[in-house]
Amino acid sequence: MRRIGLLGLAAAMAALGQDYTAITPAGLASHVEFLASDALGGRDTPSPGLDAAAAYLHAQFRRIGLETPGGAASYYQTANWRYRQTPLDEVRFSFKGEGAELSYTGNRFRIYQNGAVAAENAPVYKLAFDSLEELKTLKDGALEGKIALGIFPGPAELRKMAADERRKFFGRSRDFAAEIGRLRPEAVLSVMPRAGGTASADGELIGADKPPARLAQRPFTRVFSDELVAAWKAMPFGDTKAVASLKIPEPVEQNIALHNVIGVLPGSDPVLRDSYVIVSAHYDHIGRGGDGADSIFNGANDDASGTASLLGIAEALARSPRPKRSVVFLALFGEEKGLLGAYYYARNPAFPVDKTVGNINLEHLGRTDDSEGARVNGVSVTGYDFSNLPAHMGEAAKTFGVSLTKHPEHSDDFFARSDNLAFAEVGIPAHTFCVAFEFPDYHGLRDHWDKLDYENMTNVTRALAAGIVAVADDAQAPAWDKDNPRTEKYRTSKKTE
Ligand SMILES: [Zn+2]
Repeated sequence: MRRIGLLGLAAAMAALGQDYTAITPAGLASHVEFLASDALGGRDTPSPGLDAAAAYLHAQFRRIGLETPGGAASYYQTANWRYRQTPLDEVRFSFKGEGAELSYTGNRFRIYQNGAVAAENAPVYKLAFDSLEELKTLKDGALEGKIALGIFPGPAELRKMAADERRKFFGRSRDFAAEIGRLRPEAVLSVMPRAGGTASADGELIGADKPPARLAQRPFTRVFSDELVAAWKAMPFGDTKAVASLKIPEPVEQNIALHNVIGVLPGSDPVLRDSYVIVSAHYDHIGRGGDGADSIFNGANDDASGTASLLGIAEALARSPRPKRSVVFLALFGEEKGLLGAYYYARNPAFPVDKTVGNINLEHLGRTDDSEGARVNGVSVTGYDFSNLPAHMGEAAKTFGVSLTKHPEHSDDFFARSDNLAFAEVGIPAHTFCVAFEFPDYHGLRDHWDKLDYENMTNVTRALAAGIVAVADDAQAPAWDKDNPRTEKYRTSKKTE
């Protein structure tokens, strides 16, 4: 697919002066150890730990000697947004029925939606997730003034479902939400065992250039109580003799600042330096959860590893002869909340989109214990054959004994599951590079820094650095594969090159 000829040869020769020894196991480990430390609390968007991670990256960019975009005072690109969140400690709940008299505060609740509830001694209506057909027979507004109590599948059950089972579940959830909207209960509570989950309130981010929420809102609030599960089981379906009171206050709104961290190494060619290759990684993760002693999702492989590799590549390239094109290093917030930082950048590009020739997005580069088996000296690329960028990088990576490959299912499926998507949607050939798609501890509490294979990560990061240099040195820009129908929406977007 790539043009082989004098240009490729020239690129290879220009790459000879590169020195990748700045990328070391200890260097990468030190970045991951800090970013994934408990001190940063799992780097949720927004959180003080996320801000601390941004400050660390800002300081590292300065140490490495990257330039700020357009000579700005800071490496930060800041989204000044607002955040609405229900104050959990003001939630009050009581229940009386089936011989039980219970009263709880917010530390038993998981609140997905931001609507306030104020219901005093409301009659309890018992339903279940599979009572959809019965609900359809009720008149509009039939549950007004009542609190509906049900048992719905939780995250653990969801994880066990096969893909098509899960699709059906989400379809049913949408129908269920529509019925609830029509019947207008005061609230719907999903009852779960005490050990079934963690108290929290999902916040809502509001601001300019924020993409619409990608996660489906749930039409219920979860409450964790073994006693309530027992009472629910004892009650008849439909109207019951039980009563409940629930107070969920209005969400509290505050101003927040979220940072993408952007540094650039200007290119060496007088013409090509005005074009850009973006190397990106998300530095956020999913924060806190769980009930045990360890309640922090450290996110070492996801994606402190990609962020550490980004720093390693920046440092190696800064200590070497410059490639022809400029290389932009972009650490992104809010990937886990719906690619928020990437979309924010794509809508507020620090460098012209039509002069940005490619995006190399780094994810999951440390763990070699892939769920499908040990994975050494291999990197998977999403949308592998959507453009010629991966094959081009793959030639350079080979000199390190690292192969860039296409995973038979995940390659295409995962294309839309990381930050590269936001760049693809504005027309930039963009791919995510990872060692393992899924690994034990993926989005789990034990994704810890000391489980990464830093020797392999070093070699893989050096190989990727060589690939990035190959792209940045080639006068021929990467291009979408015109014969692949899956690239059509990216090819026809506003970027013309
Ligand atoms: Zn990730």
